[in-house]
Amino acid sequence: MSSSPDVIVIGAGVLGLSSAAELAARGHAVTVLDPGGPNASSAAAGMIAPAMESLIDGLSLDHAALLKRGRDLWPAFASAFGLTLYLDGAEWRGTDPDGAVARLHALGFAAERAGEALFTPDDWRIEARIALDQLSDVSGVSRIEATVARLSNDGDGWTMTARDGRRWSAPSVVLATGAATALEGLPEPVAALVNAIEPIRGQLTPVTCVAPGRVIRGPGGYATPTADGVLCGATMQSGEREPVADPDITARQIANGLSLTGAQGQAGEPRVGIRGASPDGLPIAGPSGTPGLHLALAPRRNGWLLGPMVGGIVADGLEGRAPRADAAALSPLRVFIQPAARSAG
Ligand SMILES: Cc1cc2nc3c(=O)[nH]c(=O)nc-3n(C[C@H](O)[C@H](O)[C@H](O)COP(=O)(O)OP(=O)(O)OC[C@H]3O[C@@H](n4cnc5c(N)ncnc54)[C@H](O)[C@@H]3O)c2cc1C
Repeated sequence: MSSSPDVIVIGAGVLGLSSAAELAARGHAVTVLDPGGPNASSAAAGMIAPAMESLIDGLSLDHAALLKRGRDLWPAFASAFGLTLYLDGAEWRGTDPDGAVARLHALGFAAERAGEALFTPDDWRIEARIALDQLSDVSGVSRIEATVARLSNDGDGWTMTARDGRRWSAPSVVLATGAATALEGLPEPVAALVNAIEPIRGQLTPVTCVAPGRVIRGPGGYATPTADGVLCGATMQSGEREPVADPDITARQIANGLSLTGAQGQAGEPRVGIRGASPDGLPIAGPSGTPGLHLALAPRRNGWLLGPMVGGIVADGLEGRAPRADAAALSPLRVFIQPAARSAG
């Protein structure tokens, strides 16, 4: 562990670890504080899916284009950190496949009819749990098991105090605490922003079976291939934080997943994660308006898709580089933090 990190990241989900990995690759000494255990990122299916997300969520052209640019950062990100990216596309098995093809074309995605279904090569995937482990092991990133209780700023930098009393200091801190409520010691406008993040519970069920060659999605959910079967998901339960799996949901997910794949299989342990969502559904990433405090939060259901984009924007902001084109769309200051906080730097 570095005794004097340049940056402390609070939270080891995909947003915290993507930011940490990007900063480490740029030569920063980064310490990540996290209690360990499951989080939204380890529950996730790992789809890098700008096309299907745009179709299913009825997104605007601008929003869809941003998701696509986020996806386009993945090949370089995966190669830099040794992650395996699967470019096998996705199928949509819903009603009106011709209408869905037309909608995807209008949003700038490739799509074609494949029998009764639609196929797009524009959606990719990773294995979320494996990728999370690999991002934790990036050179230059030290990970410490700790739950941060509060932050303080003495003018020269930030000090994080854990629940057990341990302390760490650094000139810069990245808050990447997922759907958690605001930590003590955050400036009031940032605390208000964090507390406005909507929790959205998601449940997903792994099934051991013959894996399909690509993600299959339909109105009842999806089946995403893994090494030994599929992940059948996922619910979107706004406002809910209950971490225990609901057996009725599990049963429905198994039935839906196996009907999409046409396979027989054995269900594994269901996964539950709490996504955090901003009011406009885009992540909150970059300088907070308070010097040295940076945010990597609230990517709703696209945290994996947008991890590399968030990591790049956070690292640019922390280094004082000129913001890239998409930084304004993700900026914490876009509408959520009041002007008084902006004058703080
Ligand atoms: C079932 C399901 C399926 C999904 N599928 C996909 C998908 O296919 N593709 C996709 O792009 N996205 C998917 N998502 C969404 C994606 O998982 C989330 O957007 C993303 O994981 C959020 O990442 P995060 O880093 O913001 O939060 P998290 O992964 O929740 O990480 C936050 C971390 O902060 C830590 N933390 C909180 N408070 C403290 C504290 N005080 N001190 C220290 N650490 C703290 C937590 O322990 C946690 O480890 C899915 C989500 C779910 C639930």
